[in-house]
Amino acid sequence: MGVLEGKVAVITGASRGIGAAVARALDAEGVKLGLGSRSGGDLGLNAVARRCDVRKREDLDRLVADTIDTFGRLDILVANAGVGAYGPFLELTEAHVQEMIDVNLMGTIHSVRAALPQLLERGEGDILAIASVAGLRAFPHESVYNASKFGQVGFIRSLDHELREQGIRCTCICPGGVATDFALDDDRGRSEDVLTGMLTPEEVADVVVFALTRPRGMRILTTSFRPMTEDSWG
Ligand code: NAP
Repeated sequence: MGVLEGKVAVITGASRGIGAAVARALDAEGVKLGLGSRSGGDLGLNAVARRCDVRKREDLDRLVADTIDTFGRLDILVANAGVGAYGPFLELTEAHVQEMIDVNLMGTIHSVRAALPQLLERGEGDILAIASVAGLRAFPHESVYNASKFGQVGFIRSLDHELREQGIRCTCICPGGVATDFALDDDRGRSEDVLTGMLTPEEVADVVVFALTRPRGMRILTTSFRPMTEDSWG
């Protein structure tokens, strides 16, 4: 039996891409799942699945409450939901700016607010944010995405100081390009070709499982990794 067998995780943005791959990888490890996204699917897994827009605190409260009602506990939060829009700063629409801050940053904060009391009650738990290399380095034409991801990383890194002594491990997962719908975002004018040579969502999920399966006496703070097709300047 693996160390994750019987644990319970809530994952946001679980309907596709990295969130869905993390859900499948944790399911394979015997983790029970509460899955949230605006479309709300269960991926065919034995999971609690709820429509959950991370911009709405009440949606997260309900996802966490329903997961605990069903499985009796909560051990892991994976704050994954995220959106990106790119281009010269003045060409970003107000709607795109607001959505990136609301989903990537505020969504992570709302998710932690909903899950943390349960983790503290157990005296043990894991909070992982699927951040980005864009949470560690600035890139041209990613100003507001960078801001949202730097904010997400800063939030999680600060929580690490606050929560370590209470048994909660806080981890920032910071991949480079991952072959998902996100990477094909129209704002970057990308075609399917760009996906070649990117990381796969499953590779990111492997890193999540690696972090979660470290002995509880250690924690992964921030892990940054990129495909071999990307240089390391960013
Ligand atoms: P994706 O394939 O576009 O999936 C995004 C997920 O987030 C979907 O499940 C979507 O589900 C959900 N979502 C979007 N807005 C939401 C909202 N308001 N409330 C709840 N769920 C919402 O993207 P991905 O590549 O898997 O990205 C996942 C995370 O990885 C993001 O935080 C992203 O910043 C980060 N990341 C991605 C890359 C990359 O190159 N792909 C690289 C580094 C980091 P619904 O549409 O059903 O709500």
